[in-house]
Amino acid sequence: MALIFARPALLGGTPVCPDGPPPWPPADPDVDAALQAALADGSWGRYHGRHCEAFSALLAQEHACTHALLCASGTAAVELALRGAGVQTGDEVVLAAYDFEANFKNVLLLGATPVLVDVHPDNWNMDASQVESALSPKTKAVLVSHLHGGVSDLPRLRELCDTRGIVLIEDACQMPGATLFGRRSGTWGDVSVSSFGGSKLVTSGRGGAVLTNRDDIAQRIRLYTQRGNESYPLSELQAAVLLPQWLKLAERNATRAHNVSHLTAALTLFPGLRPFANTGDVSPAYYKLGLQYDPAFFGDTPRERFVETVRAEGIAIDAGFRALHRTHSARRYRAVGPLAEATKADERVLTLHHPVLLGTSEDVRQVMEAVSRCLRAADELNGRPGTIPFTVPKELW
Ligand SMILES: *Cc1c(COP(=O)(O)O)cnc(C)c1O
Repeated sequence: MALIFARPALLGGTPVCPDGPPPWPPADPDVDAALQAALADGSWGRYHGRHCEAFSALLAQEHACTHALLCASGTAAVELALRGAGVQTGDEVVLAAYDFEANFKNVLLLGATPVLVDVHPDNWNMDASQVESALSPKTKAVLVSHLHGGVSDLPRLRELCDTRGIVLIEDACQMPGATLFGRRSGTWGDVSVSSFGGSKLVTSGRGGAVLTNRDDIAQRIRLYTQRGNESYPLSELQAAVLLPQWLKLAERNATRAHNVSHLTAALTLFPGLRPFANTGDVSPAYYKLGLQYDPAFFGDTPRERFVETVRAEGIAIDAGFRALHRTHSARRYRAVGPLAEATKADERVLTLHHPVLLGTSEDVRQVMEAVSRCLRAADELNGRPGTIPFTVPKELW
């Protein structure tokens, strides 16, 4: 992979991608046609119609589940899954200390206590080996997310929850259409959730779904949401644009995975930027590609400075989530152990946003070029005089 040693755009060079990251969602003639059809048949302005029915049926079929309940957002879907699981005041819900903030808030909303477990060093997703020691007589559910291309040991969690009679809630918002340990994502939980938010792989700007085979869980959710009218709905117009995108998901996931494998191979020469790694038979979907950042490799460039530099090149990279135990009062949760890996995740996660992963090998090369500039210009980026303090390995260029 030939890279050019140019100055970072932040220091006055020309950006690697002057036009910035690719847009999301991309223009799509099938979405266009769906909108035109919804306009023509009047379904855009109706409460009910064939679009929600058809999309719900497609999700149920793809996940081999009896109930696919559509709703207004992934966050609402997590709330409904917790309600469906029967989580109440005084209960405990186990989740990873590095997770989507709203998951933590949803547990609190129901009056329950989040119990935070550490994440696995390889991919900073829930460390399944920590969960058993987190259980108590109050544990009602385990909430596991698949984050940034990483997954937890789902077979182990499934077995533990079965043995102990605990509900497993699977947050598959970042990973639609993945195959995880021989099963489709969204089928590991007693109840699973999806998001169709504006940045997600299948989007209607807002939207979500709850999937389950359990009649009792679906019944509790229906009772809660149908209060004489539906209070958490997805609209016909949203369902109309989701359908054609879902049909392209497998193909797009394959393209993204292909590009991630190229990028991962190129990044082996950058030990300071380690993609989240999975063990076992896992074909993830990539909403974000998680990277473990080591500032020492980049001449002690702080993560925030690195992000700023790469973004200035026109690459959509971000710092990850804040870890939950570092942003919430200890009175709000129960922690299991010192959460040392989650603390590292708090400080070191980088995420590469997915649109670039639908591109070509040239897009992958541009990402490499952008991060290489940070390596080359580390001293200047950090306001230090002098030349490059290390020789960049020849194989890189
Ligand atoms: C996006 C996301 C959600 C839900 O998000 P909404 O924007 O409310 O649809 C939930 N969990 C995770 C892990 C997510 O990435």
